[in-house]
Amino acid sequence: MSAAPGVRGASGDDDAHAQDDAPPAHDAPGAPADVPRADVTPDAAPLPALTDLPVDGYEAALSDVRGARPFHARNLRRWVLQRGATSWDAMTDLSKALRGELARRFRIRRGELLRTHESRDGTVGLLTRLDDGRLIESVSIPDGGRRTLCISSQVGCAVACRFCASGLDGVERNLSAGEIVEQVLLARDLDGDHPLTNYVFMGSGEPTHNLANVLAAIRVMNADDGLGIGARRITVSTVGHPAALEKLADEPIAFNLALSLHVPGDDARRALMPGLGSSDLVATLDAAQKRFDATGRRLTAEVVLLDRVNDAPAQADELARLLHGRPVAVNLIPWNPVDGVELRAPRPERVEAFAERLRKAGVTTTVRRPRGRDVGVACGQLRRRAQGAGGRRDAR
Ligand code: SAH
Repeated sequence: MSAAPGVRGASGDDDAHAQDDAPPAHDAPGAPADVPRADVTPDAAPLPALTDLPVDGYEAALSDVRGARPFHARNLRRWVLQRGATSWDAMTDLSKALRGELARRFRIRRGELLRTHESRDGTVGLLTRLDDGRLIESVSIPDGGRRTLCISSQVGCAVACRFCASGLDGVERNLSAGEIVEQVLLARDLDGDHPLTNYVFMGSGEPTHNLANVLAAIRVMNADDGLGIGARRITVSTVGHPAALEKLADEPIAFNLALSLHVPGDDARRALMPGLGSSDLVATLDAAQKRFDATGRRLTAEVVLLDRVNDAPAQADELARLLHGRPVAVNLIPWNPVDGVELRAPRPERVEAFAERLRKAGVTTTVRRPRGRDVGVACGQLRRRAQGAGGRRDAR
């Protein structure tokens, strides 16, 4: 997401980016390193993680655990998802014997929080190491009374948008449903006096390339006996393949949809988003409209504005024509520079002029404020920096 401009100096040193006046990166408070490690038997496949279960999967998972009764499934689910327990010991309403049986069968996984990077505007970047040593990031962004968590869906990204840090080294793998849910649990642990209110799939990865796991995670997030997050507080941002959008039209959970449109014109769009494959914006918008018909939730079209690439007045007019009569609002995102990428951020007056042209043409338009500027978090940049640009994947 665009919280994050300007990482300079992509070295392996976590602090190399910090500007002189920026607050230092913090070591993760009480990083729960013991939890995932202690539960893994050496040389054996890791035990299944509870967070990968659907909310209604706990009963079946416990069915052949010695001493487990059906009501234990409910207790366990509450500990893992609602109370965010990170150890078996915390589950005091389960007997010691049962906790022992459970610990032999399942893991309480959280990923290992390596660093938090806190910006003066309150934006916090969380860098997490997964079981296999790969790194992901989530970003927690305060905004007035709200706090939005930007969630990753993949390690890296295959779409490789020319302006985005996430896809510079391609995609490494999909995140499991549990690894997505754990980003929320981890961020909730740290959100202190400003609880998270909104959740956006705008971190690394293309959600529709990992749709089954993203939807499974959203079901856990949304369920009353899961994390209990209202659908309206969840947004999936996608490059929007028509086939994927058609599938989403049938999805009963009415989360918001954001479409990374960027430039009105299929050839220009493909050039900017080389991993997209094909682009058919009219078919894409038609497919997105089916979801609007099903959910009543208006679509957001995201446009990352780049100097002299897509910020011309004529492109604003073309965009307005493309969106005319559709239930779509535009969110203009001034580009956050990414180290090593030869593009320029748009001039502020061009951003304003672009926005004004859209508004005059009747398109609801907002301009996103850059956040986290002093520590350069998000858009795959923390992870890239921690790995050293060029893709060393294991920061150990
Ligand atoms: N793959 C999905 C979700 C992740 S990107 C998608 O493309 O929608 C989320 C949003 O952040 C997208 O609109 C993306 O274009 C934007 N983004 C990525 N890198 C950016 C950068 N450096 N500056 C501003 N916006 C960026």
